[in-house]
Amino acid sequence: MKKDYYQILGVSRNATVEEIKKAYRRLAFQYHPDRNPNDPEAEQKFKEIGEAYQVLSDPQKRAAYDKYGHEGLNNFGYTNFRSSYDIFEEFFSSFNDIFDDFFGFGSRGRSRQRPQRGADLRYDLTISFELAAKGGDVEIEIPKQEDCDACNGSGVEPGNSLEICPYCGGKGQVYQQHGFFRISSTCPQCGGSGSINKNPCKKCKGQGRILKNKKIKINIPPGVESGTRLRLRGEGEDGSFGGPPGDLYVVLNVEPHKIFKRKGQDLIVPVEISFVQAALGAKIEVPTLDGSVLVEIPKGTQPGEILRIKGQGLPSIDRNKRGDLLIEVIVKTPTNLSKKQIELLKEFEKLDKQKTKNKIKNFFKKAMGG
Ligand SMILES: [Zn+2]
Ligand SMILES: [Zn+2]
Repeated sequence: MKKDYYQILGVSRNATVEEIKKAYRRLAFQYHPDRNPNDPEAEQKFKEIGEAYQVLSDPQKRAAYDKYGHEGLNNFGYTNFRSSYDIFEEFFSSFNDIFDDFFGFGSRGRSRQRPQRGADLRYDLTISFELAAKGGDVEIEIPKQEDCDACNGSGVEPGNSLEICPYCGGKGQVYQQHGFFRISSTCPQCGGSGSINKNPCKKCKGQGRILKNKKIKINIPPGVESGTRLRLRGEGEDGSFGGPPGDLYVVLNVEPHKIFKRKGQDLIVPVEISFVQAALGAKIEVPTLDGSVLVEIPKGTQPGEILRIKGQGLPSIDRNKRGDLLIEVIVKTPTNLSKKQIELLKEFEKLDKQKTKNKIKNFFKKAMGG
């Protein structure tokens, strides 16, 4: 009486192709004769697993088997089974797959000696408004892991040297033979380095690295703003095993200015004028980043009006164009008026009312068609 294929693989009758593959992977490895030498029972199981997989992984054969069982396969001529060893080798055509999937080491253990890029660092830097606008150099100090100067990064106390690991004989890897597989893993004693440090450097405690403050000059390009990130290639932490260093990211925070406000590349400056200047127009001096400019306030300027002066704003980091200077007009209402001023203003109001009256008269005249 032949065993049920689904039972052999330990899957349900409606198992997906993926589930069947998974079950085969696991069982084929468990019962492979090379891993079970002199075990006829395991060999028998290995053959059964191979046969079950051949049938259940083929949609046509599986359908015949589902409908008519072992007899059905016979009747359809599907019993010409291939060797379970061939099936196995075909399934695991890439050696690396086996390595990573089944033995759990390999890439992970070996990568310890592979060159690795150093970590990126972030530094938050607050700068003045003027520096952000005009650009310039700043020096910062950052803590960085560097090679220990006492042992030149070796981690060994001067006058001593590393000893060859007795466990792996200096190879860093240990090997086990499993049939036609040779399985290597990282040496548990030396962690893959192949050597043992019996006299660790006192200054760095055998690490080979110490934390040092490093001075770095940063060039701030003109036109930066809060949140601008500057990337300094290779100024991050050093790599290990000969890997390249990481990068340093300087994130800028720009302090506010006493007078100017910023809107993109435009500078906003509030300027107070008297109501007489607003009414009659005037020439006034307005501060800029580089000093001041003389600005013509047109007559009839209203409070809150914005006057734009081209090209007196901030430079931009990515374009050559400069922003504009925006003058926000604030009209001051006079206080502490003299007697004479009050008289004149009253006279002014009288004239203004007369003007308004005439205007209304004219309006009604027109409205009445006269
Ligand atoms: Zn040291
Ligand atoms: Zn070792």
